[in-house]
Amino acid sequence: MGGGLAGLSAGYVLAQANKKVIVFESDSAVGGLSKTIERDGFRFDLGGHRFFTKNEQVDCFVKNLMGEELLSVPRSSKIYLRDKYFDYPLKPSNAIFGLGILTTLKILSDYGTEKIKKFFRPAEITSLEDWVVNQFGRAMFNLYFKQYSEKVWGVDCSRISAEWVAKRIQGLSLGVAIKNAFFKVSGKGLPTLADNFLYPALGIGRISERLRDAIDTKGHVKTSTRVERLYHSNFRVEGALMKNCDATYQVSGHQFISSIPMPALVKMLEPEAPADVLNAASKLRYRDLVIVAVMINRERVTDQTWIYIPERKIALGRIHEPKNWSEKMAPPGKTLLVAEHFCFEGDNTWSMEDKQLLDVTSQCLAKLGFIKENEVVDGVVVRVPKAYPLLEVGYKEHYGKIWDYLSRFQNLHVIGRSGTFRYLNMDHAIQAGIETAEVILEMKNGTRAAKGAAFAGGNA
Ligand SMILES: Cc1cc2nc3c(=O)[nH]c(=O)nc-3n(C[C@H](O)[C@H](O)[C@H](O)COP(=O)(O)OP(=O)(O)OC[C@H]3O[C@@H](n4cnc5c(N)ncnc54)[C@H](O)[C@@H]3O)c2cc1C
Repeated sequence: MGGGLAGLSAGYVLAQANKKVIVFESDSAVGGLSKTIERDGFRFDLGGHRFFTKNEQVDCFVKNLMGEELLSVPRSSKIYLRDKYFDYPLKPSNAIFGLGILTTLKILSDYGTEKIKKFFRPAEITSLEDWVVNQFGRAMFNLYFKQYSEKVWGVDCSRISAEWVAKRIQGLSLGVAIKNAFFKVSGKGLPTLADNFLYPALGIGRISERLRDAIDTKGHVKTSTRVERLYHSNFRVEGALMKNCDATYQVSGHQFISSIPMPALVKMLEPEAPADVLNAASKLRYRDLVIVAVMINRERVTDQTWIYIPERKIALGRIHEPKNWSEKMAPPGKTLLVAEHFCFEGDNTWSMEDKQLLDVTSQCLAKLGFIKENEVVDGVVVRVPKAYPLLEVGYKEHYGKIWDYLSRFQNLHVIGRSGTFRYLNMDHAIQAGIETAEVILEMKNGTRAAKGAAFAGGNA
């Protein structure tokens, strides 16, 4: 249930082992968040997706699957701050000249103050704000983290769980970069600062397409088919109700793997989940995303992998130029810039007309000096629901309640990013799919007893 990378990877391993497998995906295409959109020869991901993993099994899995299709792409990113571009990772000289000596001194003195404070009285760390101020000092927090984090999450930093930032500091790339620049001098050795990453020549969505093709030779991938209800008895799922266009039909099965967003999964259970579990499910929120791809009548605009834009006054959060990832992402003589607008489903950004979103984005890109508005030849807007699980302070209580309940099901395997409400990258989603399939195969071979649902997929 769910044809993103997690669901497809599980389906692939099971199909390879000659198990009868069907993957149901509500969208008309596979790939979920790791999809590539094609329009008139222009191609783009839903926010550039680089493949990078430290897990050998996942690395081999993807390399064997994709073969010659994979490119090794050099990484180069910049941060736009205070009307200037900073290298990523920041070089100390770049940062000092860029931010000015006074700001640099303020960052350093604030950092020193926090170190001293910490020595006498360790701080209580609950929120992202607590964590960053504790680790980097207040000046650094105000300069970058506050604006960028609030742009990404749409809530005050005091309401974002410290757990997210502590685990995912590399996600806040500028923080690592600045800390690195000021306090460590060299960026070497930090995994997210890898110089190269893997990328399929025709976009990240090719991984899912290859998985789908392989599953289809032995089982089925059914797109445009939404799982509507899950029927269960004595904590065993017995079947599901599927909807394809106007037709509904029931399927039965032995093992059920779900990468459907966790709150939606809870709500589709029949008989209904207990009231406190349903209530907890209604408390988990996601952050959504609007992608605006702007097609441009020029060979190339930037030489960057990503450009981060923390400042509030610019509507965009991040930009990438797919042609810098692979030449094949745009026709010769043309390119495209893909902007990410972080938002909540139904808010002003989400509800804006496509034409208006394209205009706002083009104006921002022109203001940033990338393009002239008359160079824009076309644009595509894609609304991406549930792009990020929103780890708000206190979310764990709700999450724990849901998980306690779901883990009582003997043949329901909950995996994936939205599925487990965890900030997983592609490699962890793939790993979760592989591991879950392996658990099922071991159960069938009698080497592992059936047990409650399990979250698989390593630490993210
Ligand atoms: C902007 C952005 C940039 C990212 N960049 C990177 C990156 O550079 N590198 C990296 O490793 N990771 C990156 N990621 C993370 C990556 O996208 C995810 O880890 C991965 O795609 C998760 O796969 P999944 O299968 O767990 O979930 P999903 O891709 O969300 O798949 C779940 C699927 O379930 C389907 N579904 C939902 N409800 C139903 C239903 N009722 N019935 C049937 N199907 C249903 C959905 O349509 C979807 O296809 C990025 C994510 C975002 C949002």
